[in-house]
Amino acid sequence: MFQSFDEIANPAAGTKHIALLRVELKQRKLKGFLVPRSDEHQSEYVPASAERLLWLTGFSGSAGLAIVLEAKAALFIDGRYTLQARDQVDTKTIEPLQTPETKPSGWLKKHVKKGDRIGYDPMLHTVDAIGRLEKALESKGASLVALETNPLDQVWKDQPDPPLAAVSPHSITFAGVPAARKIKALQKTLKDADCDAAILTLPESIAWMLNIRGHDVPHTPLPLSFAILTATGKPQLFIAPEKIGDNVRGVITEVAEIRAQSELKAALQALGKRKARVRIDPNSAARWFSDVLAEAGANIQSAADPCLLPKALKNKTEIAGARTAHARDGVAVCRFLAWLDEQAPSGKIDEIKAAQKLEALRAESGELKDLSFDTISGAGPNGAIVHYRVNRASNRKLKRGELYLVDSGAQYLDGTTDITRTLAIGKPTKEMKRHFTLVLKGHIAIATARFPKGTRGQDLDPLARAPLWQAGLDFDHGTGHGVGSYLSVHEGPQRISRLGGAELEPGMICSNEPGFYREGKYGIRIENLVLVTPAAKISGGERPMMGFETLTLAPIDRQLIEPELLSEAERAWLNAYHARVRAAIGPSLDEPEAAWLEAVTTELS
Ligand code: ZN
Ligand code: ZN
Repeated sequence: MFQSFDEIANPAAGTKHIALLRVELKQRKLKGFLVPRSDEHQSEYVPASAERLLWLTGFSGSAGLAIVLEAKAALFIDGRYTLQARDQVDTKTIEPLQTPETKPSGWLKKHVKKGDRIGYDPMLHTVDAIGRLEKALESKGASLVALETNPLDQVWKDQPDPPLAAVSPHSITFAGVPAARKIKALQKTLKDADCDAAILTLPESIAWMLNIRGHDVPHTPLPLSFAILTATGKPQLFIAPEKIGDNVRGVITEVAEIRAQSELKAALQALGKRKARVRIDPNSAARWFSDVLAEAGANIQSAADPCLLPKALKNKTEIAGARTAHARDGVAVCRFLAWLDEQAPSGKIDEIKAAQKLEALRAESGELKDLSFDTISGAGPNGAIVHYRVNRASNRKLKRGELYLVDSGAQYLDGTTDITRTLAIGKPTKEMKRHFTLVLKGHIAIATARFPKGTRGQDLDPLARAPLWQAGLDFDHGTGHGVGSYLSVHEGPQRISRLGGAELEPGMICSNEPGFYREGKYGIRIENLVLVTPAAKISGGERPMMGFETLTLAPIDRQLIEPELLSEAERAWLNAYHARVRAAIGPSLDEPEAAWLEAVTTELS
């Protein structure tokens, strides 16, 4: 199994660990210390060795920042994690505070005094994040201090060692474009911007550029590493030598130089010495990089990681791979839904059993490399918790008259998937059907959208919400995120959300996942992945328009649809989608499952 259902949180340990940290801070004459969730690479998934925030506070969410002062401590989380944080931390020792309503900078300003020194580990915070806090502290006459060694690591006695998983080549059969060609194109980008080198701190960028994958963190095939991409010559890859076996060394050295991580600082200083113009991404690079470069005399250019955009624009091979991966995944999901339909009304299925069954069915293909994230398996009120992670204590039975929400995904060599379905167990109420149908209308609006070149994700986001807005309803998450190719299930720069400022371009893969959540009762989300298609002529039109091809193939629960709330065009979309699912998936199912699929995809009239 790629997912554990153990309870990770341990509020009592948090209290003990904060006390230990405070003793260490006092010895170092520090009034406070910042502990982020992130590791050196700002990844969504971090290795056990970097789970500092979890160790310190008990909070297991994927984003957050703790600030520990002498007498006070706070945990800053966003709205997704408010409920979870209250459950997981000892609120007598550490106060959970929601961002952006309460900002860490404002809170610090209120609680520091003139002359106070607040420490941070410069490897764990981005240039941008530290910049904001520095300003706040300066205004109070206090200062932020970059520390050479992390005081938390000093007191975390059983901290695991950093992972050393073997790196593997990502075959050209799946990558589509050779690493040498990617590097050449990136170097042209740098030259065009009068830039001598770019520092790559995101392992997914490095994995994409060099056509390699790794296994250092759960759910994303990342080789934790850094790289320096120079405008000419071979890029340098900084990675623990233990990770590089004979099967991959030759593949890498053909296009890059392999260096130990211990050589990184000297390499940055060498860039500074020759007054190189060096690009770093202030949004993802650790502050340590800009400090080292600036001190050595480099000319720093703040700009996005040059791999982000080309990585998001999937090539022909990756697009074909995505379609194959989704067909394979669709078979597993359809078999799961058929099983659930038969078993759930008995009342014997619970959230964990359902998640286990789904993973087992995915594994039957023999191609499953990992889940792309921990399956969100939420029955009844648990479905309303957007980032719900089932554990043995929270595990709930699927009951008649309730909704069940399952959001899951798989990692295959040819693609990464992410799908949410909401199912009625037994007979749904009228209200459930109305809410579901409004969400479906938003989903269809995105699936069928046509838009001109230059359209940003934020321009499309309202389409997914309009039917809910009309009814005085909304949902508190983005409509869609970018998805990698056998890489991160969340990737930029594209996203369909209020914050989605990047233009959508052909070849990008995004999720289309509007939802609706009634706290304490149920959650609804309908999620398919979509591929941005090239601009094409519309008959009778003047300007070519881009659009989306839906990649995900699995039925949408017809029992939850109120047909009269759908327009004729919306019904036509649903019927055509279901016909596609039937044709693509049906032949791979056994007899009873195929009959089930036939029944649940019959036309809605
Ligand atoms: Zn999802
Ligand atoms: Zn998603």
